[in-house]
Amino acid sequence: MKRLLQKSDLVDFLREGGVDQTRLLMMHSSLHSMGRVNGGAETVIDAVLEVLGEDGTLMVPTFNYVLEMEVFDPATVHSQTGLITNTLRKRPEAVRSLHPTYSVAAIGRHADEFTREHWKAESTGIDSPIDRIARAGGFILLLGVKHDTDSTMHVGEAYAQVPYRGVPYDPNFPRTAQVRTPSGEVVTVDLNDEPGCSTGFGVIEMPLRQKGMIRDFKIEAAKCQLVKGLDVIETTVEVLRERSDALLCSNPSCYFCTCARKKTALHPRAGE
Ligand SMILES: [Zn+2]
Repeated sequence: MKRLLQKSDLVDFLREGGVDQTRLLMMHSSLHSMGRVNGGAETVIDAVLEVLGEDGTLMVPTFNYVLEMEVFDPATVHSQTGLITNTLRKRPEAVRSLHPTYSVAAIGRHADEFTREHWKAESTGIDSPIDRIARAGGFILLLGVKHDTDSTMHVGEAYAQVPYRGVPYDPNFPRTAQVRTPSGEVVTVDLNDEPGCSTGFGVIEMPLRQKGMIRDFKIEAAKCQLVKGLDVIETTVEVLRERSDALLCSNPSCYFCTCARKKTALHPRAGE
């Protein structure tokens, strides 16, 4: 039987992995990957916040993908990106960005700054919260998950101006949704910039490794990777300028990648 991990164990693992040398952290995570944690998701969040310190900011994706209500309600819409993220967004000190499908939640010094007016920006593109934390020098922690969960690569797709921007992930998804802004006004958000399939995103790992940009460590059974957000964005852009279909998956039944491939055939190098 695996040992029951305590918060102090997690703090030790995170420090050994170098997370204490970051202040701004975008975390993608799998609670299950670590085995048994005393206190579950709450303990993981506490441990990461302790390691980041008082000046730190922790951000997680709280994507819901499709809004199943008329107006996005940040207090009730469930996060579909893992138990840790859904637990974090419910904390009183957490700030959830106002985006009807690709919101994030953040805790810490820069939480307001990074999440502000998300409905005006691209969902996961330029000036999105994920872009902002990366450009501020933030790191990405993949905790028991791989690069196919890393939405920062969608930021790279936006900067590279991939020819498949605007292809819907699913043609049946709504193209607009509404949020209520802090002033009480209900605004309609255009969802045509939503990100597509990330199944093929693992291709980024090799170039990042070749450049020595990945720091590997473990939290008990969970394999973790720490990488700078800007390194991911810049490497994604480089890979896409070489081949604009580099991130598309090869599953023939993937609607998004099938449509996207037709567009990349016309524009083999992104941004041209
Ligand atoms: Zn695909």
